[in-house]
Amino acid sequence: MIDLHCHSNFSDGGHSPAELLVLAAEGGVKTLALTDHDTVSGVEEIRGLAGNHAIEIINGIELSAKWKKYDLHILGLGIDIFHRGLQELIRQHRESRISRAEIMGERLAAATGLQHTFERAGEIAGHDSIGRPHFAAVLLEAGKVTTLQEAFVRYLGKHRVAYVPGMWQPLEEIISVITAAGGVAVLAHPFKYRLTRMKLHELIRIFRESGGYGLEVVSGYTTPGEALELAGLCRKFDLYASTGSDFHMAGVSRVAPGRQLALPDDCVPVWQGW
Ligand code: AMP
Ligand code: MN
Ligand code: MN
Ligand code: MN
Repeated sequence: MIDLHCHSNFSDGGHSPAELLVLAAEGGVKTLALTDHDTVSGVEEIRGLAGNHAIEIINGIELSAKWKKYDLHILGLGIDIFHRGLQELIRQHRESRISRAEIMGERLAAATGLQHTFERAGEIAGHDSIGRPHFAAVLLEAGKVTTLQEAFVRYLGKHRVAYVPGMWQPLEEIISVITAAGGVAVLAHPFKYRLTRMKLHELIRIFRESGGYGLEVVSGYTTPGEALELAGLCRKFDLYASTGSDFHMAGVSRVAPGRQLALPDDCVPVWQGW
């Protein structure tokens, strides 16, 4: 089993790299990419521990990207995590996350009366790669919501009061940095952006023209019908197919590491030739 998309507590996942490896081994995973949001800080740790489970590690990251008014997620697989351009991009995104989180804190204070959510989100995260899930945890802890999901529905989701779009680098720049770092760029969960079919096709065409390599045909929330449609888009746009659980946390994520659907038969996988 191969899982090329999952998160640890170096971004918004609930588990350390060590715990993640145990769950991946239980899911029969033989090849794993840790793809934390805008950071590679967990990669060396997971690489150092993976041998104990006979799991091969592919270096990875899930980079936020801007395309038109949309916030997209691009997986970088097989990257050199020490590449200078990549390190610089990560630094820019870390700063963007902090500025954005400060504004989110102000909006949440105005909307809920709860003070210091920015500081508390940072404490909960334990690192600088602060994201909306950390604010959701703050709201839950303070009793402002009863579930993490409710925090997104009421405050943090798109168009809600505390939603602040990210100041990410443009899609084309993200793809070019991933490629310069020796990796391949994969458009993560293409149906999650709620684009019309026309917009989605436009995005995939531009992604391909900008050096994009693959589509994530199967993710944790993909239905069999969606997987078939995405496999068709791989053929249409001459792209490779990727698969990953997008696992974040036991009890929260629907699919555990390695437990996502199988790729449709006629896909050419991104790992062909690795
Ligand atoms: P951010 O990168 O700060 O915009 O946070 C995005 C992350 O929030 C995603 O990677 C998911 O882990 C999580 N997320 C986004 N939307 C929801 C939602 N509706 N419910 C739960 N988690 C969500
Ligand atoms: Mn996430
Ligand atoms: Mn994502
Ligand atoms: Mn993800």
